Amino acid sequence: MSTKYIFFTGGVVSSVGKGVTAAAIGRLLKERGFKVAVQKLDPYINVDPGTMSPYQHGEVFVLDDGAETDLDLGHYERFIDVRLNRVCNVTTGQVYAEVISKERHGDFLGGTIQVIPHITNEIKRRIAAVAKSTGAEIVLVEVGGTVGDIESLPFLEALRQLRSDFGRDDTFYVHVTWLPYIKATGELKTKPTQHSVRELRSIGISPDMIVARSDYPVDAGLAEKIAQFCDVEKRAVVPMVTTEVLYEVPLLLEEKHVAEYILEKLKLSPRLVPDWSEWRRLVAEVRRPRPSIKIALVGKYVELHDAYISVREALKHAALHIGVDVDIQWIHSTELERSHSDSMLQEANGIIVPGGFGSRGIEGKIMAARYARSHNIPYLGLCLGMQLMVVEFARYIFQNERANSTEFDQSTPYPVIDLMPDQQNITDMGGTMRLGLYPCVLQPGTIAQHAYNTEQVEERHRHRFEFNNQFRSRFQEHGMKFSGLSPDGKLVEIAELENHPFMVGTQFHPEFLSRPNRPHPLFMAFVSAVWQKLQTNIRPLDE
Ligand code: GLN
Repeated sequence: MSTKYIFFTGGVVSSVGKGVTAAAIGRLLKERGFKVAVQKLDPYINVDPGTMSPYQHGEVFVLDDGAETDLDLGHYERFIDVRLNRVCNVTTGQVYAEVISKERHGDFLGGTIQVIPHITNEIKRRIAAVAKSTGAEIVLVEVGGTVGDIESLPFLEALRQLRSDFGRDDTFYVHVTWLPYIKATGELKTKPTQHSVRELRSIGISPDMIVARSDYPVDAGLAEKIAQFCDVEKRAVVPMVTTEVLYEVPLLLEEKHVAEYILEKLKLSPRLVPDWSEWRRLVAEVRRPRPSIKIALVGKYVELHDAYISVREALKHAALHIGVDVDIQWIHSTELERSHSDSMLQEANGIIVPGGFGSRGIEGKIMAARYARSHNIPYLGLCLGMQLMVVEFARYIFQNERANSTEFDQSTPYPVIDLMPDQQNITDMGGTMRLGLYPCVLQPGTIAQHAYNTEQVEERHRHRFEFNNQFRSRFQEHGMKFSGLSPDGKLVEIAELENHPFMVGTQFHPEFLSRPNRPHPLFMAFVSAVWQKLQTNIRPLDE
């Protein structure tokens, strides 16, 4: 079969769940036996989000091949259970960089370089590259932002052209909009949806389906009105009321026969009958009241939960499988630092210190590691969280508060975390870290090895600094085990403490590989340790 394309545009406002919608529709199609991939087109001019502040952009999601991508790629991977690659995230910055470098190389033979056709052709080339590199039969393409943004015009023009390039049977356009609710009259309004469809049409794209997001139930009359005004079939108006349960979205879209409609228009017949039993179990479990565990997440971007979205999801996946409910306490590392006291951590049954860069709030994170170590609280350190667990341990064993990572103190007498040798002369900030999948050999008899129950794993990385091997034996003498190492034994991938219920730090980011149906082994081990400890602490009253 020829490759089929489903394009997702947004209308009215952003942040209404276009990415989740695309991811969920991808899942519906996978359930019907098709190989799918999803691509995000980001209209901003940065080359990738790797150098952007998490406040601006949320989490940077890292792929196997080391691409630093938009957090929507995390939704795609988790919902569809696929592994994507760098062609699946395109930015205006990448497109222009490529075209300009070709121009400098003389590839255009003196021609004038223009948005149409040169930029649009490069966008189309990148869209076509997805099927080639992933083997997907159906490629879902999401355009970031909303229709009307100046930056997204070349992307929308490329999408428009693709209908005639690939043909009507191979292209399908989904427009995701928002229905505002007017409290005074208690009504949902379709006018902004009508306007955004008009705007889209003025660019030359007529949507085949409208997903109308709203916080309130949408009645049949309203859906009919949207169909009429926006010139789509009634079956193709899909009201999507906000759900508390993220993983319910595919089930809700399934109820509305979304996949049937899309496949009919793309002239495809399903190969499999979807089996939603696992998803239904998952969603039912989310709804079931479960005993709660409190996990303190100590970071510096905690006001914006999206900055730690994969960590939050990985925690939730593990908790669901263990049968507990995780209550995340978002703790600002700078506030912890300023308070000079552990009181903010006293409620926590477990502590996570996630990844991060730069010195703001570092001492607060070290305080969290100290509290976890000295109070036997389960601790999971992710990348920076592992490095700071090492720093804290160094301060303890050397009885010297100046032990540090050279990222934060270049003249520390105990540089226990140091720049990796191949990072020494790097001046460019973008895409130059140790990125992507690298193997890690697990050491027998360790918590990590027990959790994974295998000998070697591959995990996704994003860092410049590493454990300084000069200190390995001293640390080992004092009870730190290096339970995961690179195959040549030179790079510490996992560190853990002896004589502690669970104090484990990873140089990699396990959160990127967790799936709702397949929680990550280390998150499972961490949440189990928290739950076990909590249960042993709660003694029956008559004891
Ligand atoms: N800043 C640290 C480093 O570059 C940790 C990075 C991270 O947590 N992803 O090594």
